[in-house]
Amino acid sequence: STFLELGLKEPINKALTDLGYENPTVIQEKAIPQIISSTDDLKAFAQTGTGKTAAFSLPILELADENNHNTQAIILSPTRELAVQIGKNIQDFAKYIPNMKVVTVYGGANIEEQIRKLKKGAQIVVGTPGRTVDLINRRALKLGNVQWLVLDEADEMLNMGFKDELDKVLDATPETKQTLLFSATFPREVEAIAKNYMTRPIEVTS
Ligand code: AMP
Repeated sequence: STFLELGLKEPINKALTDLGYENPTVIQEKAIPQIISSTDDLKAFAQTGTGKTAAFSLPILELADENNHNTQAIILSPTRELAVQIGKNIQDFAKYIPNMKVVTVYGGANIEEQIRKLKKGAQIVVGTPGRTVDLINRRALKLGNVQWLVLDEADEMLNMGFKDELDKVLDATPETKQTLLFSATFPREVEAIAKNYMTRPIEVTS
């Protein structure tokens, strides 16, 4: 199938054409219509290289309100490198959606600068777990209006010891949000997060 068949809005299709994306990958084909058409939580078995970034980013860009400056999506990623990569990808996908702002936050960089960017309003925030919690504690990142929470590489985040940070971020988001969990493996610790924080998730495999 083609991206056009997924019926995404024109600015997104235009950006995908610029990027040379013609056909959705398996995980994109399964996850994109699912996330767009329902608020059910989603549990996705997907490794790096399967196109998982677009699988969760495109539905968020399709549905987020660019004229509302509140943070509507928070995406957690295990490392600075991955967070930066995801932020860049989303910026590329969003380039024809005026006013849609993406801010990436991670440790080892000036926090004041990140706070300044957040103050200007970001509909989509990508972050590593530690820095995200730090910004929540400083009241610089407000997650009370979040509609989508993405846990990318959930197994890696738990391997790296971010359980407490994940709990803290999850607790800072509204009950009504949609949780999208992406993981290459599903050990007990990942299943526990899914069990504690997700309601009857739809499962998809890449
Ligand atoms: P990801 O698994 O999200 O890290 O994506 C892996 C690589 O595939 C990245 O370089 C993406 O830009 C690229 N990619 C993802 N989806 C598609 C697609 N449908 N068509 C072409 N390239 C893609």
